[in-house]
Amino acid sequence: MDTINILGVPFSKRTMDDTVKLLQKQLASTDKPLFHLITANPEIVMAARTNAELRAIVQAADLITPDGIGVVLAARWQGDHVPERVTGYDMLVRLLEGAKNQPFSLYVVGADEETNAKAVGIIQERYQGVTIAGRHNGFFNAEQEAAIVADIEQKRPDMVIVALGAPGAEKWIYKHKSRIKAKVAFGVGGSLDVIAG
Ligand code: UDP
Repeated sequence: MDTINILGVPFSKRTMDDTVKLLQKQLASTDKPLFHLITANPEIVMAARTNAELRAIVQAADLITPDGIGVVLAARWQGDHVPERVTGYDMLVRLLEGAKNQPFSLYVVGADEETNAKAVGIIQERYQGVTIAGRHNGFFNAEQEAAIVADIEQKRPDMVIVALGAPGAEKWIYKHKSRIKAKVAFGVGGSLDVIAG
């Protein structure tokens, strides 16, 4: 078994290295549907128990990694083993670093305008092999949201990262899954704020 069920959520038992490799394989593919990764913390696990929408989102995800030591410990209490935390920020950095060997295009949704612009600038400057396909801040109305989705649909970036708070990002990716013409998408929590400094 490469997953463990914790309170109804099937968590991946892959290490960080293995998860990065899986996503890089996905980024290298040409014919696969969008791969929705969720790095889930205990709050999402608890919320999914009572929120049917979130439960459906979690069940439809392609991979759920433990973004919190609580999940690693819960596995241990169940007599099973999850090797380590696999957080959204760490995953993002590993993938960005990997772009020097395997270039990809990136679309960045979320955070306030200043943070988004600054984080995108830093990513462009720091990580060789990453092309920014587009970006938009995370404070938009319905009309702007439609324009963002149309832009992603048209630009077909390899990867979409979404910072809209949890579980806002997960809901957003799920809602637009059929029109996000990318290979990999995931919520990155406060990562853009961290990168922007
Ligand atoms: N965020 C956003 N739009 C929103 C809510 C949040 O762009 O409507 C951004 C926020 O600016 C931050 C990121 O999402 O960059 C993570 O937000 P927060 O730390 O509040 O969420 P958490 O992931 O900790 O729940």
